[in-house]
Amino acid sequence: MSRDGQKIDRRKFLKGAAVGAAAVSSTAISNAQDQESADHQHAPSDIALRVKALETVLTEKNLVDPSVLDEVVDRYENRIGPQNGAKVVAKAWVDSDYKARLLDDGTAAIGELDLLGTEGEHMVVVENTAEVHNLVVCTLCSCYPWPTLGLPPTWYKSSAFRARAVIEPRAVLREFGLEVSDETEIRVWDSTAEMRYLVLPRRPEGAEDMNESELADVVTRDSMIGVAIL
Ligand code: FE
Repeated sequence: MSRDGQKIDRRKFLKGAAVGAAAVSSTAISNAQDQESADHQHAPSDIALRVKALETVLTEKNLVDPSVLDEVVDRYENRIGPQNGAKVVAKAWVDSDYKARLLDDGTAAIGELDLLGTEGEHMVVVENTAEVHNLVVCTLCSCYPWPTLGLPPTWYKSSAFRARAVIEPRAVLREFGLEVSDETEIRVWDSTAEMRYLVLPRRPEGAEDMNESELADVVTRDSMIGVAIL
């Protein structure tokens, strides 16, 4: 569906959802669903309904501009995500000068690609090598580099991951399917609101002939958090 189509659907929903937060009933949901097209066959989750109801109320009271909300949603659905971090990694793999700048001053080098932004203003990039494997966590909450990795996965925010990543990182990585040898040092980086980390994974074997764009396609989100390798 096109972006414009999405926006029209959101508007239609807002109009249809004018019943307001308190009046959202299972009957209303059922009736609204009957009128929706085939790609809206599943009932939204409880949290989604609450968000939409809240959005409706705020919009009707002119406290938020729906076009601004559309812009934010589009940004995080379509333009911000791990594909941005993958561009950083791929460039570092093919451009040794860029890689040196990236490891020296991640903020400046990522800024060269215009990939800084909210929740990613100050960046440190840590390089995986044969001797060192890096793992990123936020022990306090869920600090994460949004502009380069998008929104954090649920497990990243879980108390179990936040606590265990620093206590027993090797065991945690094993549960992600990643066996790190005893000879490899594991460094765990604790993100904060002031500093976010991005792992520069090792370039995979067999990727010697790939160009920068092709390389970017093989870089995964998890490899840039450090719970996977390529
Ligand atoms: Fe945090």
